[in-house]
Amino acid sequence: MEAVDAGAAVVADAGRVTFPALADDAGRKSDAGSSTIAFDAGWLDFDAGMEADAGTPVSAFDAGGRLDVDAGPPVSVSDAGLVSPTGAGAALSAHTALGLPDTSAVGALDRWLLVKPQFVLSYDTLRKTPRWVSWRLDTSWLGTATRASSFRRDAQLPTTAGQARDEDFRNSGFERGHLCPSADRTNTDPDNDATFVFTNVVPQTRASNGGTWATLEDEARAQARLGKTVFLVAGPVFGVTSQFIGAGVPVPTATFKIAVIVDGPVGLVPPVTTSTRVIAVLVPNTTSVSGSWRSFRVSVRSIEQATGFDFLADVPRAVQDVVETRVDAEP
Ligand code: MN
Repeated sequence: MEAVDAGAAVVADAGRVTFPALADDAGRKSDAGSSTIAFDAGWLDFDAGMEADAGTPVSAFDAGGRLDVDAGPPVSVSDAGLVSPTGAGAALSAHTALGLPDTSAVGALDRWLLVKPQFVLSYDTLRKTPRWVSWRLDTSWLGTATRASSFRRDAQLPTTAGQARDEDFRNSGFERGHLCPSADRTNTDPDNDATFVFTNVVPQTRASNGGTWATLEDEARAQARLGKTVFLVAGPVFGVTSQFIGAGVPVPTATFKIAVIVDGPVGLVPPVTTSTRVIAVLVPNTTSVSGSWRSFRVSVRSIEQATGFDFLADVPRAVQDVVETRVDAEP
C-alpha cells in the first residue's frame, strides 16, 4: 500500500536529519535533491491513490496518518497539529527546516501540500491560490541559469484539482508574481523552470512585483551572497472581501514574506536563537506602493495573526516569542 511507503520515507528521512541544526548534508544541493526526489516518488504513488478516492483527504501530520505507519522515533504533537519539537519540518524538506506553517497535506483540497526539490508550498485548490511557499536560499541555489520563458500548470496537482491558469491573468491588470522568485533558483535550468508554475504565483501589481517586493527579493539574495543561509516563507494576505481576476482567482490585498537569516552558506547551520535576525514584511498589493521593503517591516506575530499560520513552528516556543514579536530595524 502506497501510504506505507510514504510513511516509511518520512521516517527514514527523519532519521538522518539532526534538529535543530540541519545535518551536514541536508542543505547541500546535490544531497537535498536526491533525497527529495526519492521522497517525492513516495508521495506521487500516494497521490495516485488519493485520486482514486478523492473523497477522503488524508492529513499527513495527524498522528493517525503516515507517521504512525512505522514504529519510528517517538514524536509529540503540538496543539497546532504539527509535530514538534523533533522537527517535522526538517524531516519533510530542507526548505521547511524551521517548521510547517499549518496542517497542509497531500490531498487536502484547501491546503494541498506540494513538496518539490526546489521549494515546498501549500495550495488552496478550491480558491485557486497558494497559501504559503517555503524555501531555503544559499549560494548553492544561485548561478547563471536562463530565466524560463513561460508559466505552466503545476503537474504535481491532479488535473481535477483547481489551479489558476494563464488566461486568468491575461489582460487582468495584474502580473504573475512569483512567491519563490525565479532569481532565487538559477543554479540549473530545471530548478529555474520549477518556479514557473501557477501554484507559485499570485496576482500582483506592477508597483509591488517590480518595485517594493523586488527590493526584498534582492535583499535575501544579497544576504546569501554574504555567506548567510536564508529560510524564507512568503504568501498572500486576503481582506474580508476579495477582488478576483479571470475565472475566480483571488487578488491578495498584500503579500507577506518572512526571512530568517542564519550564519553559514551551505550545509550545517546553527539553530535559531533569540539573537537570530528575522525580517518580516507586509507589502500592500496596490498600484501606488513604492520604496524599499524597509518601510514595510512588521512583526512575524502580526502576520501570524493575519493569516492564522504558525511560522517557525519547530523553533522552541520561547525563542519564537522573542523573534516573532520583534520588528527588524537593521539598516
Ligand atoms: Mn510561530
